[in-house]
Amino acid sequence: MTEILTLKELEGIVYSILAESPENDGLSACNLRREAAILLKRACKIEETTLITHPEMQLEEETWQRAVDWAQRRVKGEPMSYIVGERDFYGRTFKVGPGVLIPRPETELLVDWALQAGGARDCRLLDLCSGSGCVVLSVKAERPRWQVEATELSEVACHYFEINAQNLGLSEVVCHKGDLFADVQGNFDLIVANPPYIAEGDPDVAEDVASYEPKMALFAGQDGLQVIKRIVARAGDYLRPNGWVAMEIGFRQAESVIELLQKANFSRSGLIKDFSGLDRIVWAFK
Ligand code: GLN
Repeated sequence: MTEILTLKELEGIVYSILAESPENDGLSACNLRREAAILLKRACKIEETTLITHPEMQLEEETWQRAVDWAQRRVKGEPMSYIVGERDFYGRTFKVGPGVLIPRPETELLVDWALQAGGARDCRLLDLCSGSGCVVLSVKAERPRWQVEATELSEVACHYFEINAQNLGLSEVVCHKGDLFADVQGNFDLIVANPPYIAEGDPDVAEDVASYEPKMALFAGQDGLQVIKRIVARAGDYLRPNGWVAMEIGFRQAESVIELLQKANFSRSGLIKDFSGLDRIVWAFK
């Protein structure tokens, strides 16, 4: 005999697993409810609103057991997006898993920037260090007429890129498997990148990030600038006249990165802050 639980009962169980973990001491009740809701939505394959509209929904053991297992993994520190296998970004869902960086809300600013910088033109855009493809595929989905391409060094990330491109009906978007500009041909109106930018040994990196997410997508030498420096040094060669480049940066790096861009002869540059008021995107004009 298998046991049936209602959605409401399962919600209570999942919430208490998450809440009773010492790991979650710092999480507010509101954040815990959020986490429980994401987990239930994906484990039970329901819309989030069903939690409110159909709390009496009957769940088979296989379903509720999955939610309980996931909650137990979560309290051991595994990132939610790896457990459920996906993450929402710019209004779409991207598959992710160990070996690929989890898309961050602040990276949506890079998509906003690209759409704005491109304006009404039909642009050619290059996305470096593309990871799951969240930036370039979001741009392509928003601007189907643009010609976009990407590069990514990690084999695992390229695999997720392809799955995401296919799921979004954008399998024509090319991701070169290679280092930065290695396989890139021609010139672009816009270059964007969310490169690794954390300094090795930075004590501020969250523990779950450092333990679970790919080092290659996070760390870039003693100053965190090793990849950014290489991008700045070569971006100009791949930009059309009046082309723009924009990169996500660490919140203490704006001054150094703007200086690098000025030395590389970019004429104008600027800074965009994230929702926490921290410096997050640097852009420059050729
Ligand atoms: N913003 C990410 C973090 O804080 C780092 C991502 C990156 O290096 N591009 O974990």
